[in-house]
Amino acid sequence: MDRLILIKYGELTTKKGNRKLFINTLYKNIKEKLNNLNVDIQSDISRMYIEYNSFDEEIVLKKLNEVFGIHAYSIAYKANSKIDDIKNTIKEVLNNNIDMNNNYTFKVETKRSDKTFIKDSMECNNEFGGFVLKNFKNFKVDVHNPNVMIYVEIRKNYSYVYLNEYKGLGGYPVGTLGKALLMLSGGIDSPVAGYLSIKRGIKLDLVYFEAIPHTSLEARNKVIELAKKLSIYAGEMRLIVVPFTKLQESIYKYADPTYPITIMRRMMYRIMEKLSKRYKSLAIVNGESVGQVASQTLTSMNVINNVTSIPVIRPVACLDKLEIIDIAKKIDTYDISILPYEDCCTVFVPKHPVINPSLDKCIEIESKFDYNSLIDEIMNNLLVIKINEEYEDAKYKDIL
Ligand code: ATP
Ligand code: MG
Repeated sequence: MDRLILIKYGELTTKKGNRKLFINTLYKNIKEKLNNLNVDIQSDISRMYIEYNSFDEEIVLKKLNEVFGIHAYSIAYKANSKIDDIKNTIKEVLNNNIDMNNNYTFKVETKRSDKTFIKDSMECNNEFGGFVLKNFKNFKVDVHNPNVMIYVEIRKNYSYVYLNEYKGLGGYPVGTLGKALLMLSGGIDSPVAGYLSIKRGIKLDLVYFEAIPHTSLEARNKVIELAKKLSIYAGEMRLIVVPFTKLQESIYKYADPTYPITIMRRMMYRIMEKLSKRYKSLAIVNGESVGQVASQTLTSMNVINNVTSIPVIRPVACLDKLEIIDIAKKIDTYDISILPYEDCCTVFVPKHPVINPSLDKCIEIESKFDYNSLIDEIMNNLLVIKINEEYEDAKYKDIL
């Protein structure tokens, strides 16, 4: 008996014009995800079928649970699309999966995508239900609240029988919504923002602003570890390390005591805009959350956002910190994020950052030094690291 995984796309099937792109991208992503395993993947307009070695089942399922765009899946049994073959398969499925020492109520639900099949769905339900009643004395029909559902999908060459449907990760296949740059700090919020944007089908590259020697290589390593966690869902990504030290020191030299964070974030956005052009990114994603810190009041956001015209996506903008932490724990980034290494933003935090900054004042401070040439210098000295799930520290040490 052939066992296989049957994948249901869900939400993406509502996007009629894009259906092909969505299915092809999901196919590519699943293939990449399972590339070390011996699997056969087929797809059609409504389902994907994955055949695998039975001893790999656990690992295949674990990996599929890391792929966005899978709405639901079932472990199904394949039969030829003939009444008798389907009946035999139903019998085997029940014998293999159900403890026959108990009594059950059941219902058969047939979906017939092959409309040329000799019986319609209702007739199939009756035929297969009758077969179960005849062969399994411990089974009784209950169409309202059955203990056991028997699903039968009849397609042109093959049919599929299964008992359960499991929830997938949902979302859109990564890559179907274009590319964005995630501002990834070592904190709790930005990896969560990254995860939520990946879920919407956005392909990410990552940007980390670094201020060595004020920040340590451990802090960079922490960002790399976070990036690896995201790549479980996102596939391979670039991590662009921005040498921010000189610019940041200039900001602290020229800005009034309450303004450095505001100016620093305007500089970050200016650099993000340049990086977006270089890496053909359509948006900036970050972990800003309204009201969380002084630079995230609506006034601050206006003044800071003023330097860029690229859309800025803030997936955690309206979540409470506790809600963000819940997601961070779920995606396994929380324990990394709370490691104590300083980030470039925390090193220089003034005691009383301005919460209602004025745009004129920012422009006045920025006119005191030639930040453009500092930004040009930064753009010529980026460090780019390719990160994937298997990325090893050894490779990272090679680069240093
Ligand atoms: P997080 O917990 O993600 O660091 P935060 O609450 O500390 O967020 P801020 O430090 O104000 O918030 O930063 C807001 C957002 O700006 C971060 O979520 C991140 O997207 C971006 N950011 C801050 N510092 C850096 C950095 N060093 N490199 C890249 N992005 C950064
Ligand atoms: Mg931070």
